[in-house]
Amino acid sequence: MVIRKALIALWLASFIPGGSIFAQNSDLNDLKSEAINSIDSMQKLTQEIIDSLFSFAELGFQEFETQRYLAEILEANDFSVELGVAGIPSAWWASWGSGEPVIALGSDVDGIPRASQMPGVAYRQPMIEGAPGHGEGHNSGQAVNIVAALAVKEIMEREGLPGTIVLWPGIAEELLGTKAWYARDGLFEGVDAVLFTHVSNNLSVSWGKARGTGLVSVEYLFDGIAAHGAGDPWKGRSALDAVELMNIAWNYRREHLHPLQRSHYVISNGGDQPNVVPSSASVWYFIREVTADGIRGNFETLQQIAEGASLMTDTSVSRRIVGAAYPRHFNRPIALAMDENIQNIGLPNWSEDDQQFAKALQTLMGADEPQGLATELSGITPDLEEPISGGSDDIGDISWNVPTVTLRYPSNVRGLQGHHWSSAMAMATPIAHKGALTGAKVVATTMLDLVQNDVLVNEAQSYFEDVQTADEQYTPFIGPNDPPAIEKNENIMAEFRPLLEELHYDSTRYETYLDQLGINYPQLTPTEIRRN
Ligand SMILES: [Zn+2]
Repeated sequence: MVIRKALIALWLASFIPGGSIFAQNSDLNDLKSEAINSIDSMQKLTQEIIDSLFSFAELGFQEFETQRYLAEILEANDFSVELGVAGIPSAWWASWGSGEPVIALGSDVDGIPRASQMPGVAYRQPMIEGAPGHGEGHNSGQAVNIVAALAVKEIMEREGLPGTIVLWPGIAEELLGTKAWYARDGLFEGVDAVLFTHVSNNLSVSWGKARGTGLVSVEYLFDGIAAHGAGDPWKGRSALDAVELMNIAWNYRREHLHPLQRSHYVISNGGDQPNVVPSSASVWYFIREVTADGIRGNFETLQQIAEGASLMTDTSVSRRIVGAAYPRHFNRPIALAMDENIQNIGLPNWSEDDQQFAKALQTLMGADEPQGLATELSGITPDLEEPISGGSDDIGDISWNVPTVTLRYPSNVRGLQGHHWSSAMAMATPIAHKGALTGAKVVATTMLDLVQNDVLVNEAQSYFEDVQTADEQYTPFIGPNDPPAIEKNENIMAEFRPLLEELHYDSTRYETYLDQLGINYPQLTPTEIRRN
């Protein structure tokens, strides 16, 4: 406690400039340290949200338990919650307050197929074989945002500060399935700033062009003619042949695409059984590139290849946009303000147990010299001079509609495999809880920067208008009538939901989810786990 007070005093001192704005800044710093203390007092709520969402383990478009649970918390805290926004049943839009600025906090909530994994143990043990799990860590971001919002709301109410706080989820982020639709349907009109949060293994923010790609996710559906595979196959026209020829053509074409592109596909329907010529088959592609024009160009190439495959096989083809993500561009003024808060707040104090667990996971994943959890801030990342390829996030579409930043907070362990069960191992442990609490402090203090002072809101807006969108305009990859792919993952969740329900975290009976599971954190060697 003494140490914390000393740190806060030091932190306050770092903000105090000379001159006439002294009083204003010292008020702001008082409010910031108040928000930080208030967030520390919500440790229990943070842990419960993270552990609950971990136990729900829901895939994209099927986050209904997550929605029910979080909407209840938000309504109990005077937020008005609209469910099913933008025609997406598991989405919501929660708002509190009135007037400007309107600050919208977002974070993803969906899990990863087949990533079911017991938390807090340093070895592979699925909770349910084949089930989804939080192998990305999307169970932690809503806790960051809700706790930050509650701390700031309390201050705004008392101080009579105008402003509106919005909380929204990234539904089906793993399918890049909703944020472009939110933007298309006007949810972000009138929003002044979006503070987005994403799980990571350090505490950082970036501005300008971000590393990674944007993409179009598109499914091609071929229609042919069924026939007996042995009796009279000449009467058939195989939709699967079209899928295979399309894939072959794309794989030849790869050589002549720009090396920074990334593209991958799965055959989402390969027919029913071998003795029936497949009359229906489909293939689902992610077409990624570092620029919007690059994505559009490659998508046109793919479209031609699909039409070619249809011509070659006498089948017909149609397509459906499943997801979209614009290459991201983040707001410089907000990122700089956020980075100042990051430097003052710093990384969590990891325990020996946390470090031991992290190193055990890194060793499990093949590290020769496990580094453990980060103890030094990685620092702000400025606008990329040269693009770097990689993954995508549909926050890109929002970043071209509203001044936006993404805070990456340290709830996971570095050096693990992404979209993989190893990335679920720490996500219901003290590492996830501490990282989220730290992230919430950064979000709350940055919200106060925006609420207290319209200078930052105005600077953010002028960067957005005069720099970001001065010579690049947003032209969405989805059209006005493309529906969201809300049926995705329905079958998988129908299979696993009853099994997952038995393992839902019961916070009325157990202090933590690890307690409920009977795990002695950090459990480094395989032991028979006796569930409590
Ligand atoms: Zn993610």
